[in-house]
Amino acid sequence: MATILIVEDEPAIAESLAYSLRRDGYTVLTAGCLADAEAQPGAIDLVVLDLMLPDGSGFDLLARLRRRQAPPAVIILSSRDQEADRVAGLETGADDYVTKPFSPREVVARVRAVLRRTARTQAVAAPALPLPVTADVETRRATIDGQPLELTRVEFDLLHTLLSAPGRVFTRAQLIDRVWGDNFAITDRTIDSHVKALRRKVADAGGDAGIIETVRGVGYRLGLGGEGGGADGG
Ligand code: CA
Repeated sequence: MATILIVEDEPAIAESLAYSLRRDGYTVLTAGCLADAEAQPGAIDLVVLDLMLPDGSGFDLLARLRRRQAPPAVIILSSRDQEADRVAGLETGADDYVTKPFSPREVVARVRAVLRRTARTQAVAAPALPLPVTADVETRRATIDGQPLELTRVEFDLLHTLLSAPGRVFTRAQLIDRVWGDNFAITDRTIDSHVKALRRKVADAGGDAGIIETVRGVGYRLGLGGEGGGADGG
């Protein structure tokens, strides 16, 4: 069972989360500030991270965690329902976010989903678990269920970017950066219409267009099925 580190300076929140996660079978460690979090020895599979901590911002820890050789998954606890925080969190490499106030049960569900997703992402790196969709940069050929997809350059690059980290959410800004480069003025709507075209081609080739999931208010990800839409909340 996975080891989870809760970084949260409000004891009541930390304790109720720790209780719920332990009841679910996880090993739980807690830290009330950045310094405590960094001092935790041993391997941690997932960090539940508050953003406002007494000795700094959770974003700083997130950035440092990402540079580790085997970075843990991260779920951000945000006290404000601000899209800026969510997007910044995901761009810094967080796997999911939960807005306060939340129920411990909601956090446990997110923890389970993120751990399942990251385990699966590791599994797809091995040839044992092929994805239904492929995009080969050398030949610029893409397929769905073995059927060729005739894609434009942009559609191919979008698909290839999503495929680079199955299950991970890419913000529209990240997609623009990877597909067009950051000096292009591309609107969110432009991205959305290319994704729509890509989905149509996948469906026309007999594939499941739902494999490209919308994460509402954030961006897109390559779904691996079985999670029922995850972060978009229906
Ligand atoms: Ca706090």
